[in-house]
Amino acid sequence: RPAALARTGRALGTRPSSREEAHTQGSDTGTQRLADTVPRSVVDDIFRCALKKQQGVSLKYMMDFGRQSAAGFQDAMRVSADFLHEELPVRLAHRVAELENLPLGLSEKPQVRRVRDWYVDSFCELRGFPAIKSQADVEDFTGLVTQIKNRHNNVVPMLAMGVASLKEDLVAGRVRTAFGTALTGAPDIHSFLDRFYMSRIGIRMLIMQHLALYERQPSEDGSDPQIGLIDRRLCPNEVAHDAIQDARYMCSRDYGSAPAVDVYCGSPDLRFAYVPEHLHHILFELVKNSLKAVADRYEDADGEPPPIRVVIAGGEEDITIKVSDEGGGIPRSDIGRIWTYLYSTAQSPLQVLHPNELESGDAGVGSTAGAAVLAGYGYGLPISRLYARYFGGDLQVVSMEGYGTDAYVHLNRLADSEEPLA
Ligand code: ATP
Ligand code: MG
Repeated sequence: RPAALARTGRALGTRPSSREEAHTQGSDTGTQRLADTVPRSVVDDIFRCALKKQQGVSLKYMMDFGRQSAAGFQDAMRVSADFLHEELPVRLAHRVAELENLPLGLSEKPQVRRVRDWYVDSFCELRGFPAIKSQADVEDFTGLVTQIKNRHNNVVPMLAMGVASLKEDLVAGRVRTAFGTALTGAPDIHSFLDRFYMSRIGIRMLIMQHLALYERQPSEDGSDPQIGLIDRRLCPNEVAHDAIQDARYMCSRDYGSAPAVDVYCGSPDLRFAYVPEHLHHILFELVKNSLKAVADRYEDADGEPPPIRVVIAGGEEDITIKVSDEGGGIPRSDIGRIWTYLYSTAQSPLQVLHPNELESGDAGVGSTAGAAVLAGYGYGLPISRLYARYFGGDLQVVSMEGYGTDAYVHLNRLADSEEPLA
């Protein structure tokens, strides 16, 4: 909706950001504490909102809401905008409060400050938006959340840079944990990252669901399989084939060829309600890991490497997808670490960049500052598990060292689990 965007853009463009209104010292607000960058009233408002409870919603709720919206579309979009207007500041404020108080000097990293500033700017814009009363308000608000979504595109690589910089400090002995110099010795950083990235998945889901409904109103007879981002009749077999194709393409690019991947699906037309992008993300990461393990192990061997097997099962409660490989498995002593951020046995393509180098564009961790890579950030498994858990599922990895690895994705078919927010 360019009109809405332009209108909101103009409205926002004439208003200096709260940080510009505050009298800041120095030009680089990227290294300052929150209280030095925004007025006291904004700090108070943020911490007040950070004490409010976040309202989790379920996949089923989003579907029911979307389906009902067909009957009274304009009213429904107003309700949706109203909900976001209330809920997003609360979720953003929770994150700002945490970003401001991280251990081991992580809060002081310029990349972390930059992320915090994005959250603060979005918080202020939402709080400054008046009550949503008319259709024009809905249109303006929709423009605003589009802008907010774009502002936050690079949060994952930006924060990853901050954490990577902390990792460097630990290795160099500039910072110490009670458990030594490895990042795995900082469990509170990991639980923060889990909460943070889970929250981000939720915020983006809410915004993009609103935008998708706004763009494409579901049909009134309820026959539409697509409700915003949710596909009510998602075929996991199809998503698996797409993810495999994408992962094999990357493997071929790096190794010159890619091991085969066979898919076994009890009933090929098994369908359930889910967000295709989420499932694609998880399967793409798992298949990439398996391809790399098999390709590494059989690089110098004659003949074809053993194929990777993807098994899809549909139960009453769960859809379960297993990705099995004969890539040699993971030593038991490393199993705990595979879930930590930035743990990777691959060569890291990550260089710590200055925040300005990451300012624009849409880069996922896998595409930070250039080409996507097969492995190396150590974000694949932990983020995939968050996606699985977001709608009440889970991800498990079982290894037989010397043989191979099985990863199990469980997805809750009942769709009634609320977002796990903390
Ligand atoms: P990326 O963020 O690009 O995915 P990564 O693949 O190294 O980087 P993860 O996917 O989180 O990160 O995996 C972490 C580590 O777990 C890998 O580096 C690898 O050592 C191990 N691992 C994961 N899956 C497998 C597998 N199927 N076989 C053997 N090792 C694996
Ligand atoms: Mg990986």
